[in-house]
Amino acid sequence: MKPSFFDLTYDDLKALLMEKGFTPFGATQMFDWVYKKWVHDPEAWTNVSKAAKEFFRENYDFSLLKIVWEGLSKDGTRKFLVKLADGQTVETVAIAARDRLTLCVSSQVGCAVGCTFCHTATQGLKRHLKPSEVVGQFLTVQKWLHDNVSLEEKLTNIVYMGQGEPLHNYENMKKSTEIFMSEKGLGLGQRRITLSTSGLVPAIEKLAVDFPPVNIAISLHSARNDVRTELMPINKVYDLERLFTAIKKIPLKAHRRITYEYLLIDGVNDSLEDVVALGNLLNTKESKINLIPFNEFPGSKYKRPSAEKILWFLDQMIKRGFTCTIRATKGSDILAACGQLKSEYEKINLWNETALTLRPSIPSSALQSPGQG
Ligand code: SAH
Ligand code: SF4
Repeated sequence: MKPSFFDLTYDDLKALLMEKGFTPFGATQMFDWVYKKWVHDPEAWTNVSKAAKEFFRENYDFSLLKIVWEGLSKDGTRKFLVKLADGQTVETVAIAARDRLTLCVSSQVGCAVGCTFCHTATQGLKRHLKPSEVVGQFLTVQKWLHDNVSLEEKLTNIVYMGQGEPLHNYENMKKSTEIFMSEKGLGLGQRRITLSTSGLVPAIEKLAVDFPPVNIAISLHSARNDVRTELMPINKVYDLERLFTAIKKIPLKAHRRITYEYLLIDGVNDSLEDVVALGNLLNTKESKINLIPFNEFPGSKYKRPSAEKILWFLDQMIKRGFTCTIRATKGSDILAACGQLKSEYEKINLWNETALTLRPSIPSSALQSPGQG
């Protein structure tokens, strides 16, 4: 199988061109054709040398992913299940809010971290995604929106909050953010990208040194070690003390504030004791708290707290001087919680694959250019 062009960062492409005896300046033109003009057939790259065009036609793959299921929620959230070259599937979700259209991308097939509240965890880790498979989620959904919704529909932000633990797949996710951010290509600003992690301490320490300066969200879910360990087994190895020693190394000038995601689970982490612990652990100036009401799924052992309880928790944090928001549950009518669609799909898929294919997938050959004429 040919390697994907979408695995190459701008620097990788320059190095490859040099290695093959082409001019490295061609990288600028190629990124421009591929990411700005959406021309994915090298034959049509008019300002690139014939030999280089032939080289990329012969040796690189420009296919997008196959959308095997697509669903629209009442609130406008669109969920996609995409098939990778080896037949594995992952979810990616486009969420519209205010003037943004955010794509929530998956970083792995399954996840090894094993959080007890998370549906993806039940699958275990099947494999890491390649950079091209994350960039591919973006390009595939962008093209789908152009073809099926409108040319105005443009993905503006990315969150690494789909299936998988992005920092467990460090090098590939680093490359994918570099490709998203490259000014020669997609040109997404660092503030438009957020990486969410369950708290893989060695990777956070590394991130502070060599990762592009994207926004960081930490899935905290409890400020008490015993409760956090119950929810997230990773806390046995990297407890709150080790986690916060690592977080303090992240240069805040670039990241401004860190977002702490706090899942609210009935009777588990929503008491006054939890509020007090959270207030003591975090710093009001450097933190933003995002409360996520637990999304129940078939077989989940936890419950979502009442609306009153959720608002009470919010109020407690605001009273303590925090910037605190509640994440609206998006797309719940299409199973938008982490990892749910994939499993539901697989169950139904046993019966009838076509029943769920609302729209045919897009052949990569059809990939000419939204807005390209
Ligand atoms: N592995 C990374 C990123 C993917 S999970 C992480 O854990 O941060 C993205 C977010 O979805 C996390 O904050 C996670 O806690 C949340 N999540 C997982 N299961 C959920 C559920 N059942 N209800 C609501 N949020 C959930
Ligand atoms: Fe993995 Fe994140 Fe789910 Fe935990 S919450 S199992 S880290 S995907």
